[in-house]
Amino acid sequence: MAFTSLGLSEALLRAITEQGYGTPTPIQARAIPAVLEGRDLLAAAQTGTGKTAAFTLPLLQRLLADSPSRDPRRRPPRALVLVPTRELAAQVGDSVRAYGRHTGLRAATVYGGVGLNPQVAALRRGVDILIATPGRLLDLVGQGQADLSGIGFLVLDEADRMLDMGFIHDLKRILALLPRARQNLLFSATFPDDIRTLAAGLLNRPLSIDV
Ligand code: AMP
Repeated sequence: MAFTSLGLSEALLRAITEQGYGTPTPIQARAIPAVLEGRDLLAAAQTGTGKTAAFTLPLLQRLLADSPSRDPRRRPPRALVLVPTRELAAQVGDSVRAYGRHTGLRAATVYGGVGLNPQVAALRRGVDILIATPGRLLDLVGQGQADLSGIGFLVLDEADRMLDMGFIHDLKRILALLPRARQNLLFSATFPDDIRTLAAGLLNRPLSIDV
């Protein structure tokens, strides 16, 4: 299996080569074609499996496919990646920027524990992919600084940790703010009942992947 057979565009393949990746990991080989087809995904994956690229690469491509050459300052984010911690937010943000470096798509990362102003400024410059921890995202929404009305793609990364950290209510509030028509990807290392319940309410006939 080669990256070139997964249906990814030239701009993404170039970035993959620059990252030094030779072949897709098992989760990438299964997830990328499915996400490109528009399917929802329920993935059991630990850190280290290549899960970040498994959702980031096809997400970037989906955004490129309907990428309007609109003024970036006037477009609300189209993809939202929710993560439990600021460390993971920073890490996912770095990956999105690395894989997306030849696409012209913009990412912003927002998380708590640091000042709001730089994050507000980043949102105002225009964002295609917003990577966020739940509490800070709700703060920004409450202040009218984050607009979730354009979100067509949602990723929940490390969903089990998100629930363990008590984010279920924040998560439900965020979900209620998103457009109904969306593609949803859920990644979790474990599948206790609360994750299964969340997945059942969120995902539409998902492809299940267990690596
Ligand atoms: P993740 O599971 O997303 O945290 O990724 C684990 C590590 O694997 C990261 O350092 C990635 O840069 C790296 N990685 C992801 N995909 C590949 C690949 N196809 N080949 C080699 N390394 C990869």
